[in-house]
Amino acid sequence: MTWRPGGAVVRREIVGGAPWLGWMVNVVVDSPNLLATYSPPGSPFHFPPGDWPTPDGCHPWHGYEGWRGGGTLMLQRPGDCYAVWLFWDGPKRDFDGWYINLESPFARTSVGFDTLDLELDIVVRPDRSWSMKDVDLLWQRHDEGRFSLREVRNILNLGDSVGRMLDTGEWWWGDEWMNWAPDPSWEIPTIPQGWDEVRSPMQATCAATTMRLPDRPQSRRQRSVPHRSRSTLSSSPRRR
Ligand SMILES: [Mg+2]
Repeated sequence: MTWRPGGAVVRREIVGGAPWLGWMVNVVVDSPNLLATYSPPGSPFHFPPGDWPTPDGCHPWHGYEGWRGGGTLMLQRPGDCYAVWLFWDGPKRDFDGWYINLESPFARTSVGFDTLDLELDIVVRPDRSWSMKDVDLLWQRHDEGRFSLREVRNILNLGDSVGRMLDTGEWWWGDEWMNWAPDPSWEIPTIPQGWDEVRSPMQATCAATTMRLPDRPQSRRQRSVPHRSRSTLSSSPRRR
């Protein structure tokens, strides 16, 4: 099953086999090696009721009505445990950097695709310097029971591997994406009825045990991730 460019699909986050967040995204590219989607500004979030592994039982983004800030382009290869997000700012859409969003490999459904945000992120600035984000939050999710210790370790290792890839500068995504712009005729589509009743093909709360790490060299000195280091950035739908 593939989707045509310009079409719209549901991006769902899955916990315990059930969706706990869904929103509509436009399809930019759907090829054997790449799924590129676009989250348009204001695309409404939908939160099914449930007893979720968070302090208040709600998704961490609960309370946000929809996607904030400018639109975001999201690039993910099949099997990868991270997506590359691109941000732009202002009316002239000045490029504002990349954002490596660690997330489970996407799994296709009849209405779109499923994934799960893995909490740890990497901010890559336009000058290509980078830093980890939300290490604290990852451990907090462990304390809340959302991620096992093994999963947290796998996620941290994944972050380190992506960091090594960034250090080499051998990125698989091209610079031409910086100049990409959405088709102005695209509209924010309505989420299909029953979107949260579609069975998820995702097998577990987190695919951390089957993560595909970046192909790049393992020989460079590993960048350490401080345990429970203080995060200086907040978590939000516009997760900068
Ligand atoms: Mg994230």
